[in-house]
Amino acid sequence: MADTKFEGWLGKDKDSVEGKMEWGQFDPKKWTEDDVDIEISHCGICGSDLHMLSSGWGPTPYPCVVGHEIIGKAVKVGKNVKHVKQGDRVGVGAQARSCLQKDCPDCSHGIENHCHRETINTYGSVYPKDEGKSYGGYATHNRTNGHFVFNIPEGLDSAAAAPMLCGGITVYSPLKRNGCGPGKTVGIVGVGGLGHFGVLFAKALGADKVVGISRKADKRDDVLKLGADQYISTDEDKDWAKHNAQSLDLIVCTVSSAKMPLQGYLNLLKTHGTFIQVGAPDGGELPPINAFTLLSGGLKVGGSGIGAPWEIQEMLQFAADKGVKPWIQTRSMKDANEAVVDMKDGKARYRYVLEN
Ligand code: NAP
Ligand code: ZN
Repeated sequence: MADTKFEGWLGKDKDSVEGKMEWGQFDPKKWTEDDVDIEISHCGICGSDLHMLSSGWGPTPYPCVVGHEIIGKAVKVGKNVKHVKQGDRVGVGAQARSCLQKDCPDCSHGIENHCHRETINTYGSVYPKDEGKSYGGYATHNRTNGHFVFNIPEGLDSAAAAPMLCGGITVYSPLKRNGCGPGKTVGIVGVGGLGHFGVLFAKALGADKVVGISRKADKRDDVLKLGADQYISTDEDKDWAKHNAQSLDLIVCTVSSAKMPLQGYLNLLKTHGTFIQVGAPDGGELPPINAFTLLSGGLKVGGSGIGAPWEIQEMLQFAADKGVKPWIQTRSMKDANEAVVDMKDGKARYRYVLEN
């Protein structure tokens, strides 16, 4: 087989996030028999893509091809990869490799997403030694370690499955790990790509009451249609934190602004409630938290990062079985620059998916 040519939308500097990515060829990581090459059919646009294009989390190793909600066809499968066959429909999320060593406290316990020894992201990471860099899914092809390549259940449409691989799992994992289900009231803060999955999954997991919480009132109808039982507009509902005080057991927060009304969100928690941050602000900056809010409420504040491979496979099957239907808007891969600008302007309802 002739060597595959990898082409994609290259971000070359911070301005690439302004719709200035350039189409071009790139060299994927060096091939090993642990890898899978994928001919990409779909790739979702995640908020993280914007942080990376703009060097919001620290200097990006340009050129960078973003995109970590990848679906496509396995076109080359390394000998050591047993669960994927050439021709299979597969997916890749935000992680491309971890150390995978038997003595790793994270990898050996099924939490590869927290591996402290070697975490390679699907894009913007530099592999050790001379293996090259990782490049994401705004492209024709992707090369990823087979352990992080997932089989897509038949019941899921490719365009709908794509954003589950990062946006979906990032809320599914903390919802499940923190007891979302019957008897629980759950708030999802920031109803964008991740947040809309939060509402869908919290309902599908059987929570008694799900509350969508976002800034503007104009999302109310959508969020109720998604299945939420209540919607709070933090810009427009007067005294929202007071009126809804102590009403939630669990909050998952996708907002990535250092200016978010965090104190107000915490007021919504019942005694012993849990607040999980998944939004990833530039520079990691969060608003200050008043210690007495934590002490008097007995609150727990934590965080969560994507999910482990087994959880991703579980979530995909759960979504297929429960008929979870994300709200997506497909855009041509050719129009990636326009779509990134629209995403930045908050126009996605609720996830753009690029289609080759
Ligand atoms: P998104 O679609 O843009 O959604 C974010 C939502 O936050 C927006 O829809 C917006 O809704 C709300 N928001 C509230 N205050 C905001 C403010 N001051 N500025 C901008 N938005 C504000 O993005 P996403 O793809 O869901 O990603 C959300 C965050 O999660 C990003 O930081 C991303 O990097 C991060 N992320 C983390 C992980 C992880 O592993 N922890 C994984 C994936 C993504 P309203 O306008 O309605 O308020
Ligand atoms: Zn993502």
